[in-house]
Order: sequence, then structure tokens, then C-alpha cells
Amino acid sequence: MKEKVIYWLTGSQTLYGADVLEHVAQHSEEMANYVNEHMPVTVKYLTTCKSSDEVVAAVKKVNADDDCIGIITWCHTFSPAKMWIKGLHMLQKPMCHFATQYNEKLPYDTIDMDFMNENQAAHGDREFGYIVARLRMDNKVIVGHYTDPEALKELASWCKVAAGLAFSKTVKVCRFSDNMRNVAVTEGDKVDAHINLGWQVDYYPIGDLVKYIEKVTDADVDAQMAEYAEKYTMATDRIDVVREQAKYEIAIDRFCKDKGGYIGIVDHFDALHGLNQLPGLAIQDLQSKGYGFGAEGDWKIAALGAVMQYMAGQKSTGLMEDYTYDMKDGLCLGAHMLEVSPQFADTKPEIQVHPLGIGGKSDPARLVFEGIAAPEAIAVSMVDMGDRMRLIVQKIELVKYPKKMPNLPVGGLMWKYKPNFKDGVAAWIYAGGAHHTVVSSVVTAQDMIDLANAWGMECVVIDENTEINEFKKQLTYSDVIYKSKF
Ligand code: MN
Repeated sequence: MKEKVIYWLTGSQTLYGADVLEHVAQHSEEMANYVNEHMPVTVKYLTTCKSSDEVVAAVKKVNADDDCIGIITWCHTFSPAKMWIKGLHMLQKPMCHFATQYNEKLPYDTIDMDFMNENQAAHGDREFGYIVARLRMDNKVIVGHYTDPEALKELASWCKVAAGLAFSKTVKVCRFSDNMRNVAVTEGDKVDAHINLGWQVDYYPIGDLVKYIEKVTDADVDAQMAEYAEKYTMATDRIDVVREQAKYEIAIDRFCKDKGGYIGIVDHFDALHGLNQLPGLAIQDLQSKGYGFGAEGDWKIAALGAVMQYMAGQKSTGLMEDYTYDMKDGLCLGAHMLEVSPQFADTKPEIQVHPLGIGGKSDPARLVFEGIAAPEAIAVSMVDMGDRMRLIVQKIELVKYPKKMPNLPVGGLMWKYKPNFKDGVAAWIYAGGAHHTVVSSVVTAQDMIDLANAWGMECVVIDENTEINEFKKQLTYSDVIYKSKF
């Protein structure tokens, strides 16, 4: 992520003379350099804008720079905001208005009008804020001194979101199957997703993959098996079954790279002609390498997973499915028939082979493990409401299994819903949230709200403050708002 650049643009004017502008440039450079040290991306001071033409020139540079993923604006002084209109209209990247200033404390003993002319961010913030509000831009506002750890933490999160937004525009999903027959919630408008999220979703017959599988050599498989041996515990003597998964993994990875860089993968247990197992271990290990995965044709989750995994730095993020409740203790057990990412493992994953009740194929190899605990995590679902996509974000607490489940042959997670079991489950159902989600203990609810804002997408949040009747009202209101928006 550090290769991605966010330009720092300072807003000013010529009213106070060249000396002031020289100081402002020095201050901006110093502030941007300090901020850069604390960001996951590179932050660079670009220029101080004093006129409409200068803003336009700066924004053209920002738009044309492929490494640039956004801008931070700082108005050290009153920057008459009509000069920002043309440039902001052209801006194609996300913007954070950093309401900060060079000095943290007022120099009470020495403050005079020279100081006031050079340091009037409180003044500048308001004029700039007005024009951004007037332009209806979904930007981010962060307030605090540029050395304040809280403000820097918020800014770092926003940088991660900006990087996720840029990454989203590059996401390509390779589907080896259509949606599972009759399933509604995994459907969606792929053209809408391409327009609004940048996701390119393409279908390939599974036979095209079979040709790749046939070309995998024994030496390739040996190398993949050595990699498995390093990361996982081999808890089966059915090595040939595991080698078959190694073949799938190599073939899928090569296929995705050869065909133009697919980073999302979709398969379906019922569409495996030419394969003798459902890819399990293969898909799990591919997720640990950054691939997003959607089961049963679920391309939305494959793409969302790839984006969120990227934002999380490939940590504790991936496909999940709400499976079964412990209603007594208010818990949910999440798993899938095979494909839960080892990014969630708390114990060293074991490679095991067991029968699979559906799909009619041979027993597949898979990773079995118990998931992590994390006090703060989120489950995210994206559903097509017919006229738009809705993002549903629920805060959850990941907990350890209260008891061992020795007969459960998959990787899994357990969690508690916010605000509580009953309201958490009810709110999710009212919102139309799917059984497939992307769970993360790294990406936060605020990150997803900011990402949804940048996408221009409806986002409903279920958290510790959710009250069901208010929540239902919000769904009704947002139905009206978002219908008119698209
Ligand atoms: Mn599923």
C-alpha cells in the first residue's frame, strides 16, 4: 500500500503576501512529511493553490497519476472557495478535508495580526467546507492537530479506504458457475456493479479450467505440497486426495493470471464437470494469498472479499456463512461446507479428508481449524434491492468455541451479534442481509461506511446502538432516498 500516493493540497490566496505563502509551503511540507510517517500509503505535499487555474492544474495532475489514490486538503487560511469549484468538479479521486493547523496551542503571549494572517485554518475550514457541501461531495472530514495520534489513526483508516476504493476499480471476478438454482440473495446486477464499483465479472465454463488442471505437472504439485507442509499439519494419509487439491490451486491461480488478472473466484459444488472434488483446501489457500472467494456463484462476495482482504492487509478477513445458532447462549456458528479462509485460524490448520454430503463428488481435502476470538469484528453483506445495491454492516464479537466440536470437519468462527442476539438477528433479517458475508476483525464498520459513501452506496449499520423500530424507520427512509438517487 505504501506505493500508493495521496497528495496534500493546501488552500490559500495571495492577499497576505509572498512571505506568508513561503511559510505556508514550508509548513505544508513539514506537516505532510510528518503525516506520511504514520500512514499506510505515501503522503506527499503537492502544491499550495491560490486560484481556480492552479486548482484545476493540481487536480489534472492528481487524476492523471496512476499511483495517486486521493487527496488531503488543508486550508491554512481563508481560501475563497469559488476557486475550488472547477477543480473539485473534475476530481475523480476521494478527498479528505483535514481540519488541522500548524500550531497546536495558541501562542497567547505573542499572538498578533501577522500570526492571525498566517494561521487561520478555523476560518479556511468553513469556506472550503461550504463549497464541498454545496457540491454534494461525499468527502471525509477529520479534525485534529496533525500530530494528534487519534487524528492520525483516523487519517490512516481513511487512507486504507482510499486504497480500497482504488483497488475496487481493478477487481475482476472469474465465475466458473452461474448462481445456484433458485437462490435469490446471491443474484445481482453485474452491470450496475461494474458502473458503480468497478467490478468486472466474467464467466468461464469449468471445462476451460479442466484444461489447465490437466497441464499441471507432478513437479508443480510437489512444490505446492511442500508449501502446504510448511503452513499446515498433514492430518490424513490420503495424500493423493490432497495432491488433487494442489493441482486445482495451481490451475486456478494460473488461469486467473493468464486471463488478465482475476482476483475474485466463484465456483459451485453442483457445477464441477471434469473435477472429482469440490475445491476446498485449494480455495482456502488461495484466499490466504489475497483471492476473494464466493461460493455457489456468489460473485458479489468474491469481489467484496477481495477488496476487504486488500484493505485488511490479508489478515483475518474472508468468506463466512451464518450457519447455526446456539440460541441458549446467543451465539452463531459460522462456517461453510469447506472454504473458510485460514486467515481466521487460531490453531494451526489441519489438512483432513472427509466425505461431503452434497455435490456427488469424491471426498475433498480441506483445512480444519478453530477460529480466532476478537472483541471487535464486522460481518458485511451486499444485496441487490432491485434499484440499487445495499451494504449491510453488522458489528459482531468473535468468541472462542465454548466447547470442542470434534466431529465438525471444517474451519469455523463463532460470534455474538450486536446489539444483542435477538435484535442483531432481527435487524439483519429486516435489512435483507444474506447468509454469505465477508467477516473481518481488521476492517472496521467506519471503514465500510466511508467506503460505501465513496461508492455512493446505501449502507446500513447494525451496532451496539441499534434499536429495532428506529432501524426499520431508517430502512424505510433510505428506500426513498436511494430510489431517487439511482
Ligand atoms: Mn454457501
